[in-house]
Amino acid sequence: MMLRFWGVRGSIAYPGPSTVEFGGNTPCLELRFSEKNRLIIIDAGTGIHPLGNRLVSEDIKKGPISAEIFITHTHWDHIIGFPFFRPIYIPGMKLKVYGPITFEDDSLEKVMGDLLRYRYFPVLHGELRADIKYFRLGESKMDLGDGITLKTKYLNHPLLCLGYRFEFDGKILCTAYDTEPFRNIFSMDEKAADTDPIVRAEEDEAARKENEKLLDFYRDADILIHDCQYTREEYLSSKIGWGHSFFEHAIDSALAANVKNVVLFHHDPLRSDKELILLEKNCQKLVKNQRDLNIVVAKEGMEIEL
Ligand SMILES: [Zn+2]
Ligand SMILES: [Zn+2]
Repeated sequence: MMLRFWGVRGSIAYPGPSTVEFGGNTPCLELRFSEKNRLIIIDAGTGIHPLGNRLVSEDIKKGPISAEIFITHTHWDHIIGFPFFRPIYIPGMKLKVYGPITFEDDSLEKVMGDLLRYRYFPVLHGELRADIKYFRLGESKMDLGDGITLKTKYLNHPLLCLGYRFEFDGKILCTAYDTEPFRNIFSMDEKAADTDPIVRAEEDEAARKENEKLLDFYRDADILIHDCQYTREEYLSSKIGWGHSFFEHAIDSALAANVKNVVLFHHDPLRSDKELILLEKNCQKLVKNQRDLNIVVAKEGMEIEL
């Protein structure tokens, strides 16, 4: 399995002098499976634009291609690049798009298709030349053929958001793009002092179990790509409930789930290159005397052979 990162930034694209090294594009990851002629893409953030350019200039030149896009959820930073993905304008291109349904219960096709309406964009979804099919996903296990299996798991985010676990050739890749620790939401409430202690204990237990299920989902992964939008201080001061993790949580999860490599991902748009270099060093210090866990801060253009 070969991974290539085309976008690692969260929330909004942020190109400029402060993000030259780690990149400003929003999430898009390319997966290739050795000798299987399969192309899987996770998310269609702005990073899918340069990926599409590469496909047009190299792969499609040799003949029509197929690809599968797995959308983690339909927040803008994860889908906004879709109308700019050049292969969708090319006849013969076959595309399957998978993703979770929204709480409004609109179909995935409608949510994605709405990006291509005249109020937002000069081309309509119905005018696209590629053969595009949409598939709704929930929590499941799928055999994708060619020896590739996929497990999906809901993460903790304000909108249904899926984590993906791909297994191929004895290797495991897990993604937890937009997620924060499950918690007892009532214990954050000041009035909660009046709450029945038994009810509170049950809710604490429910949150603990959900966190445990997530660790099972990550268990023994060779690579875990995990949300690290905030520092612990930022998270605790004003970001609880916004659906994102902090560096220490990503690392603790990786350690607890016996992960080999954790890739810190979904960088805050205001996180500069200098800050990310420093955070990477500090995170490596954190695990220095613990189990052997390799920590990498995701960078645009980064390739990993698994
Ligand atoms: Zn996001
Ligand atoms: Zn999100």
